[in-house]
Amino acid sequence: MPELPEVETIRRDLAPELTGRTIVRARFSKPDIVLNMSPRSLSRRLQGRRFDGVERRGKHLLLKLDDGRLLQVQLRMSGRFAIGRQAPDKAEFRHIAARFELDDSRTLFYDDVRRLGGFQLLEAEEWAGVEAGLGPEPLESSFTAAHLGERLGGRRAPIKNALLNQSRVAGVGNIYASEALHRARIDPRRPAGDLNRAEMGQLHRAIRGVLRGAIADAGTTFRDYRAVNGQSGRFQDALRVYGKEGESCGRCGTTIARIVQAGRSTFFCPGCQL
Ligand SMILES: [Zn+2]
Repeated sequence: MPELPEVETIRRDLAPELTGRTIVRARFSKPDIVLNMSPRSLSRRLQGRRFDGVERRGKHLLLKLDDGRLLQVQLRMSGRFAIGRQAPDKAEFRHIAARFELDDSRTLFYDDVRRLGGFQLLEAEEWAGVEAGLGPEPLESSFTAAHLGERLGGRRAPIKNALLNQSRVAGVGNIYASEALHRARIDPRRPAGDLNRAEMGQLHRAIRGVLRGAIADAGTTFRDYRAVNGQSGRFQDALRVYGKEGESCGRCGTTIARIVQAGRSTFFCPGCQL
């Protein structure tokens, strides 16, 4: 599933293209990509609506509509967008599942080879209910190390699992949790509540550093992720532990290990993460 940097990259790509544009017609050619109503019903509700903005909260991508509703996009692993006057290159976009024809004669295309993702039209109150369950945004200036300590303090869950819990901190997933813990030199198996203040400060810096770096690199291309119009992210070149089981740690030379925590792979260095 795309994490904060990938969703933010897509948001930044889409926002200037869509904001202020009106949907002339929306078509969904694969019925299972509309999650909470029939495709026909969603098409009817979107026709004539204007995009008021494109927002991100945690890993959620939200297309704001001028009637106050939100079109939530669940990107999962294989969803990707393209925008243009013509359909994108068939080599990259072979399974177009949705088309939004815009009033500037361009079309927003959504392709989803595995059809794991989809669209969900939410009333403002419905979204407020979802958002109430999300922790703070780690890149907001108001998010301090003390704040991170409060969110994780007293938790007996391993720190890696606590970071994946979206109600503690929003937007961090499996890739960036492993990477942040390596940068902070913290063993992913330690109980979250055992980190001292200095370690919480290191982790706070590491989380923000790794997320900012990944946004600057347009995300990490792992499996199917693409930014808008088929562009790849580049942060996979900056990964230090994720997917590197058996390789040497760049910091201490120890062999990087993979373990499974709460059903997800964790990559870490047993030599320098204490
Ligand atoms: Zn190491």
